[in-house]
Amino acid sequence: MTQYIPVTTCHDCGLLQQISHMPEDGAVKCCRCAATLRKRERVKPEKSIEHTLALVITALVLLAISNAFPIVQVDAEGHEMASTLFGCVKYLFTHDMVFLAGLVFLTTIGAPLIQLTGLLYILLPLNFKRIPPFAPQIYRLVRIITSWSMLEVLMLGILVSVVKLSAMATVAPSIALWSFALLMIVIAAILNDVDKEMLWGLISPDTKGRDTQQYKSGVQLTNCHNCHLIQALSAEHTSSCPRCKADVHWRKPDSLNRCTALVIAATVLYIPANLLPVMVVSSMGKTEGDTIISGVMYLATNGDLPLAIILFIASICVPTIKLVILYLLLITVHFKSQWRPKERTQLYRLTEFIGRWSMVDIYVDTLMAAMIQIQGLIVIEVGVGAVAFGAVVVLTILAAKAFDPRLIWDGMEKEK
Ligand SMILES: [Zn+2]
Ligand SMILES: [Zn+2]
Repeated sequence: MTQYIPVTTCHDCGLLQQISHMPEDGAVKCCRCAATLRKRERVKPEKSIEHTLALVITALVLLAISNAFPIVQVDAEGHEMASTLFGCVKYLFTHDMVFLAGLVFLTTIGAPLIQLTGLLYILLPLNFKRIPPFAPQIYRLVRIITSWSMLEVLMLGILVSVVKLSAMATVAPSIALWSFALLMIVIAAILNDVDKEMLWGLISPDTKGRDTQQYKSGVQLTNCHNCHLIQALSAEHTSSCPRCKADVHWRKPDSLNRCTALVIAATVLYIPANLLPVMVVSSMGKTEGDTIISGVMYLATNGDLPLAIILFIASICVPTIKLVILYLLLITVHFKSQWRPKERTQLYRLTEFIGRWSMVDIYVDTLMAAMIQIQGLIVIEVGVGAVAFGAVVVLTILAAKAFDPRLIWDGMEKEK
């Protein structure tokens, strides 16, 4: 007799398991690695679309205000300076730092803009009970781009810059600063508000409820890495997701090799990132370069201890910890180690969470350089070390994305 069970698989450890009920509040966790499998929606489903749509429109207005006005007004020795965020990107571009210009543009303007317009494209017709064309593909793009939107890190970068700038000039916050702060809160609310399962069910009705659909026992099942839909795999262990059309694999293809290559490249660039200046200050005919470490030391010895601690954690601890964790994961998976799989999976989740915070230094250097340009008095420029440091941040983020945490659990005792 064929036995049927309602099941799902964990995206972090691959364990096949049953979701028997949704708890009233909180989330359903994986019984093996404690990954969140399902989250309870905050808003009632019938109100959810309208509610999220209102938040998305608010966020788009705030994004426009944030980019239309200068971030802060700086007054140094009678010279008034101000720059919008796009002005900062333009500064990098015109100073031959195309990679950094692209990185700052993507993480602070491009990604939030694509994320919000993508959601507007889906939610506006849904509010009138219509499904827009290519909705699953657009939502898939929104989910990919969301991980590159780093407004909360930019906000920290702006605050650090304001404190640093106030040591050399009078700084007055502009409307864009408040607008950025609000935008950050509204985007966090949107991410918290969207019930992903419900939205997938609306834009791809054929696959509604498939996350716990009944399957024959013994069939090889896995989750789509993008939309988490559970599905049976072909004999070749690959298929195309019926919901978001992403390629689905039993394990991320070539995960170890890709991750190793990216981690080695990041390690090589880590050396110039720390040895070369990230910021060059020319004042009274003297030119001085500041590396990441000398910048932190300067702040610590000049009474800005909280700022020094923030930059020390974000720019020195985070990239180092991330590289160490990635090496540890690569080596233990390569040697099929059975050592503390749950803790190793948690370390992996930590690298995904902390990686973006290293961008603080890039934002601070960019904002300082774009703001302080008084020819003949003081000129701040972004140093070449910042380019290497930006590359380290991007490479470690890509390495964490390339790594498949389910490899940690492969080879463990046979799943029950
Ligand atoms: Zn798990
Ligand atoms: Zn999918």
